[in-house]
Amino acid sequence: MAEHGEVWVFAEQDDGVLNEVVLELLGRARELAEKIGAKVAALLLGHNVEALAGDLFAHGADRVYIGEHPHLKVFTTTPYEKAIVQAAREHKPEIFLFGASPVGRDIAPRVASALMVGLTADCTDLQIGDHVDPMTKQEYKNLLLQIRPAFGGNIIATIVNPDTRPQMATVREGVMKKADVQTDKTGEIVKLELTLTDDDMIAEVIERVKAERKVDLKGARVIVAGGVGVGSPEGFELIRQLAETLGGEVGASRAAVDGGFIDHDHQVGQTGTTVRPKLYIACGISGAVQHRAGMQESGKIIAINKDPDAPIFGIAHFGIVGDLNAVIPKMIKAYKDKI
Ligand code: FAD
Repeated sequence: MAEHGEVWVFAEQDDGVLNEVVLELLGRARELAEKIGAKVAALLLGHNVEALAGDLFAHGADRVYIGEHPHLKVFTTTPYEKAIVQAAREHKPEIFLFGASPVGRDIAPRVASALMVGLTADCTDLQIGDHVDPMTKQEYKNLLLQIRPAFGGNIIATIVNPDTRPQMATVREGVMKKADVQTDKTGEIVKLELTLTDDDMIAEVIERVKAERKVDLKGARVIVAGGVGVGSPEGFELIRQLAETLGGEVGASRAAVDGGFIDHDHQVGQTGTTVRPKLYIACGISGAVQHRAGMQESGKIIAINKDPDAPIFGIAHFGIVGDLNAVIPKMIKAYKDKI
């Protein structure tokens, strides 16, 4: 184990707001750290961001490393990479986790490359376990098991970095549960002396234009999702009506998106959004493994499919075998009659 041995989470923030994935990662980092007897630390970079440390402590961090600099006010790759690499070299974490957000996907591979360590991208699970090298028979204790779908989602691969530190991974947004908030929890703040210069600012952000998010699948308590069985873009009107009735969002399978029925923003699954609503209603969706990967942690799953052997019924809490065009209007009517 490295001399410091902490489990680090990159505390991605934008305009002083932490990305939700940071809080999710802190929850898992706590579990991992407890297994290896280490502390959890967050690496917070930006300009005037110290106020966020309280949130990081409340969500599980024991220590927050803060690196503040005007060059870190808005995310650009080069100064962030330099600051993260400097912090990791100085403090030597055992494990270093990033959200698989656009920022995480940009920065984590560059940091891994600079530190000459491996990186597993887009993990859906992280555990601690032992490993025996099949060639040398050398045994490694308490490694980070980095788990993710591979080969088009047909296998779940477990990847380890036995020799290099930190063990680095990016983790899909929405797959890990946030830890319970402990508002009275505090911790130690460590200020980093960053050596950034104007030469590190190879790109200048002149203007930021934020596109408004049209779909909030991650935050939805109810999702009504449609698949190929919906039949057409017009068919999605029925899905929208049920979603609206229940106060939910509209999701979709990739095949429905590829078929041009609905926008990619609505896609649920391995290459879409991972969701965990209280209720997920899958309409005309067969339940391919890549779709299930994005929704099987939902609180309750209702499947409507005219094929009684559709795999989605294998994970559904309630299954309705029937034509969605007949079933959904009845559901809407029944719900409206009740309220
Ligand atoms: P189908 O599998 O064609 O199923 C349609 C279902 O509708 C059938 O079960 C049928 O019985 C039912 N049906 C038809 N008509 C009706 C009706 N009138 N009433 C009720 N039921 C009806 N998929 C995703 O969803 N998300 C992903 O992120 C994703 N990522 C992928 C990544 C990779 C690398 C690969 C290789 C694939 C990925 N896929 C993903 C695709 C996935 O493998 C499936 O092809 C896709 O999920 C199938 O979508 P579907 O269930 O809508 O269509």
